[in-house]
Amino acid sequence: MKEKTPVVILGGGIHGVGVLHDLCSRGYSDVSLFEKGELANGTSSQSTKLIHGGLRYLERPSQIPLVYECLHERSLLLNLVPDLVKPIELLIPVHQKKLVELLKIKIGLSMYDFLAGRSLIAKHKVLSFEEAYERAPLLKNKTDYRFYSYWDAQTDDKELVKRVAESARNLGGKVHEFSEVFSIKDQKNHWELKIRDSKGRETHVEASYVINCLGPWANDFLKNNNFSVPYKAENNKGVHLLFEDLGLQSGLLLKAVDQRIFFVLPWNGKTLVGTTEKFFDGNQNHVTTSLAEKEYLLDSLYQSLGISFAEKKILRSFAGLRWLVVEEGRSLSRTSRESAWGTQKNQNGFVLTLYGGKLTSYRKLCEKIGNLVSKSAGVSAPTKTHLREFWKAPA
Ligand SMILES: Cc1cc2nc3c(=O)[nH]c(=O)nc-3n(C[C@H](O)[C@H](O)[C@H](O)COP(=O)(O)OP(=O)(O)OC[C@H]3O[C@@H](n4cnc5c(N)ncnc54)[C@H](O)[C@@H]3O)c2cc1C
Repeated sequence: MKEKTPVVILGGGIHGVGVLHDLCSRGYSDVSLFEKGELANGTSSQSTKLIHGGLRYLERPSQIPLVYECLHERSLLLNLVPDLVKPIELLIPVHQKKLVELLKIKIGLSMYDFLAGRSLIAKHKVLSFEEAYERAPLLKNKTDYRFYSYWDAQTDDKELVKRVAESARNLGGKVHEFSEVFSIKDQKNHWELKIRDSKGRETHVEASYVINCLGPWANDFLKNNNFSVPYKAENNKGVHLLFEDLGLQSGLLLKAVDQRIFFVLPWNGKTLVGTTEKFFDGNQNHVTTSLAEKEYLLDSLYQSLGISFAEKKILRSFAGLRWLVVEEGRSLSRTSRESAWGTQKNQNGFVLTLYGGKLTSYRKLCEKIGNLVSKSAGVSAPTKTHLREFWKAPA
């Protein structure tokens, strides 16, 4: 079978469906997305599920614009999909005697509130032990601590991807699940792609623009097709553990055994703990949790809360890959979450490959990509994904 379409999107994670939604909201009617599994088969269902500015990124002044953008996108998503993106209070316990630490967090939270501006959910404040314990009984051993409270938002990442895809479908976008793109060729005035579905049937598609949102698979796909890669990037594995409900009304931001930040969050009637960070160079299709990663999180829970959790209490674990542009000389946890893209052009269009990004800021990033496609194609319609009427209502 042979098809022609102006734009093809590769990958059905948040960025793939986000670009599809963006283009459809501008009035493009003939855009197709191909995903090798079901939607959100990759990183977009394995995240910490926070829609947040990223308080800890404020430690690096260069990340302030990213935090600002994320805080504003947070506010937009709270309005656009209130059934899927909801406010969550987070508590940071700090020992009363650690005056420098108390000051540092106070300054960070004041900046966070300031950057949110009119998008602020609620101003940060200090809670007494009794107030914190009421929200999080896991803090029972922290009688000589002070608790900073601030607000962010939380979602169900897979459901969010599905909602964005449904919204795009509503506007005419085509989503093909279980359709693996296995080849791309530059035919000078178009790109030719080959796709195989789960029954082994092949489709050939000709497109002027190809948007590569394959995340952890993006560079391998280019290399396998003898394309050069715009950026060197690497995968960084993050593991989460899911427990029965541990009685949290608010989330906790704690320090792990190696002083990294990790979260303990109420999520969908359960408690989510994560994440780890470890360089990963294995097969992206088989990302599993090791015993050492489980132990790291269990030890971190014990160290930060003084409560020991048996491994058998873990309901399940899941692991995802952060796909980040390599920054020479930086540790993984300090590598920027900012996005980047690179394009390869031919006579009529380009292949754009996306790197990095965050669930929180996906809409803005996809708008920037939509702008590039529109500018190149000579179409002037702006995005409308910031408007509620361009979103599918919950079923
Ligand atoms: C542990 C962890 C925690 C995170 N927590 C947060 C958080 O709390 N908040 C936040 O804002 N961000 C968070 N992020 C970042 C966020 O999850 C990612 O930036 C985002 O999900 C990446 O989406 P994507 O669409 O680029 O990639 P992916 O979701 O990985 O999508 C790529 C898709 O391409 C498909 N694919 C691969 N090869 C092919 C092929 N040949 N043909 C067709 N399809 C193919 C895959 O099946 C996959 O579905 C976290 C990331 C990680 C790893």
